[in-house]
Amino acid sequence: MSDVSLTKDFADAAPPAGDLVVLDSVNKHFGALHVLQDINLTIRRGEVVVVIGPSGSGKSTLCRAINRLETIDDGAISIDGEPLPEEGRELARLRADVGMVFQSFNLFAHKTVLQNVTLGPIKVRRKSRADAEERARALLDRVGVGNQADKYPAQLSGGQQQRVAIARALAMEPKVMLFDEPTSALDPEMINEVLEVMQQLAREGMTMIVVTHEMGFARSAANRVVFMADGRIVEEADPHQFFDNPRSDRAKDFLSKIL
Ligand code: ADP
Ligand code: MG
Repeated sequence: MSDVSLTKDFADAAPPAGDLVVLDSVNKHFGALHVLQDINLTIRRGEVVVVIGPSGSGKSTLCRAINRLETIDDGAISIDGEPLPEEGRELARLRADVGMVFQSFNLFAHKTVLQNVTLGPIKVRRKSRADAEERARALLDRVGVGNQADKYPAQLSGGQQQRVAIARALAMEPKVMLFDEPTSALDPEMINEVLEVMQQLAREGMTMIVVTHEMGFARSAANRVVFMADGRIVEEADPHQFFDNPRSDRAKDFLSKIL
């Protein structure tokens, strides 16, 4: 794996410190199910926040709301000081600031690895093909799949596909990266190669929201752990405090089942 910077091209313009993602009293229902209940959460620039909690607690819905893949019923979400718009050109622009990596790799099956990574920059960021390809190849190198650029996703292992998905998200030069259980669908021997890329991103100062049950990653990379249950944030703490000394019974119960 290359140890060259994953974010070098845009890390030079040192961003001002401050709040990058702010959720203010966010509520969301699916019919009778109150899936997000009065969520208040602020993620500062350069912070790595790991979100954990039982299945069905609303973690994916939270991620999808931040990317406006789900609407919210009330409250507000802002990215870098700008409220998330309802729709239209402004939404496309703000959404491009949020890189998303899903559990299922979601690569375009009928495009090569290189095309997967250049499509967004060309179509949304209006880059020239030459510029987009140059940057895509550099990113693919950095996540360790530079020699796979002309293959199709199905020809790659799950771990390689997920690293391509990370490169594709980074190619848009996002302000924040959301990872929703990025290693849950991987064979065990491929988990670490993906976590290593995420560790490197974290070290380089990328702002990250990571839903994962990988407690080793949470302990070593997270600045903060957010524990969700039943649509609420039940507990927020630094990882050592959370894992060694959880306060809530819900968190104690959850940790006793997974650790
Ligand atoms: P998690 O990611 O923590 O497992 P989710 O955010 O996926 O939780 O789901 C939270 C709850 O919302 C679950 O009970 C789930 O069944 C429900 N849910 C998720 N998406 C939808 C949807 N599109 N329509 C109805 N219910 C949904
Ligand atoms: Mg989920």
